[in-house]
Amino acid sequence: MTAGLPAILGGAARFPEGLPLVRPTLGPPERLAGDLEAVIRSGMLTNGPQVRRLEEAVAERLGVAHVVAVSSCTAGLMLVYQALGVRGPVVMPSFTFSASAHAVVWAGGSPRFVDVDAERGLLDPTAAGAALDGAVALSATHLYGSPAPVEALDALAAAAGVPVVYDAAHALGSERRGIPVGRFGSAEVFSLSPTKVVVAGEGGLVATADGALAEAVRLGRDYGNPGDYDTRFAGLNARMSELHATLALDSLGRLDGHLARRGELVERFAAGVADVEGLHVVRPEEGDRSTFKDLTIRVDPDRFGLAAPELGLALRAEGIDSRRYYHPPVHRQRAYVAHGSAALPVTDHLASSVLSPPLWSHLTDEQLDGMAAAIVAIHEHAPAVRGRMTGAGASPSVR
Ligand SMILES: *Cc1c(COP(=O)(O)O)cnc(C)c1O
Repeated sequence: MTAGLPAILGGAARFPEGLPLVRPTLGPPERLAGDLEAVIRSGMLTNGPQVRRLEEAVAERLGVAHVVAVSSCTAGLMLVYQALGVRGPVVMPSFTFSASAHAVVWAGGSPRFVDVDAERGLLDPTAAGAALDGAVALSATHLYGSPAPVEALDALAAAAGVPVVYDAAHALGSERRGIPVGRFGSAEVFSLSPTKVVVAGEGGLVATADGALAEAVRLGRDYGNPGDYDTRFAGLNARMSELHATLALDSLGRLDGHLARRGELVERFAAGVADVEGLHVVRPEEGDRSTFKDLTIRVDPDRFGLAAPELGLALRAEGIDSRRYYHPPVHRQRAYVAHGSAALPVTDHLASSVLSPPLWSHLTDEQLDGMAAAIVAIHEHAPAVRGRMTGAGASPSVR
């Protein structure tokens, strides 16, 4: 089969109007209009019944005792770390979004980055165990929606007597061996920002079985003020508004449909690129469920013929957006270089080889197939594509 000439070599771009990385899947506005109008008419824009409804609905879905809605996952993580009194090293991955580490720093802690597994980029329990000496907490990210190895990580932390915090920003709807993410560790924190699967516009959810921790986060999202204006600690304003909670409730109601569709799209994509050498689709462990917050591929430059960033540029010529989630890894970002880190060879390797092309819950089969076909065509012409990039006028920053 020949898939035609890639746009970067002069072929017709497959998506002249552009295929963006993410589009939140929202219901028809009419569906929300009544609920939003009710909020506006009530005059209660914050601290109202919609936030409580959202918290109850998520707690029930996950089977977790406490859910506290906050203004973002970042703020939720900050409040959790503050409540846990994290003042020393926190063992955590560098192969994650920067906010995982920022929250630790804001709470007065210090990230101690360790390596991840080469298959899914999840925190490696062996590496974490070896770094726990003197640490005050452990944190892992359910990357792209693939659940972290929670049994091993929870056991390690219990043995060391430290709390575990999961950055579950990608994972509302993920399951580890049949158990919903949200039930593990000391707390799990979800994001409802527009690039995630359940969206509120902006928002986060803290899930925990620990009543005292939930109470501290509740207080912390409200300046540390229990209502008597005698604040107990320096909290934040990290409340979720009623308008955001209304959007989130609607989005949550359609989560199962979105999860099914995303799983279908990932399998369709994997089938579409099955014959392409040097390209691997990241999936969760057998028996786990991923939200597939991202469709992530690993590119082996020797077998594929191009490195991940080169493939990204060739896709851009087709009108197809992509991101290198996560490059640079946190320990190599300017905010953290002075902080120092042990060598993280697996993290560095993954960061150089991953690429996330577009995925959203209402992506059509046709769009998905066009994307897969573009990758097949780019692979078939890899030497010429590389020649184009290394030739005159090419940007050296792609290497
Ligand atoms: C999006 C994201 C966050 C931050 O979530 P916000 O709700 O935007 O604060 C944190 N961690 C990871 C892994 C993320 O992808």
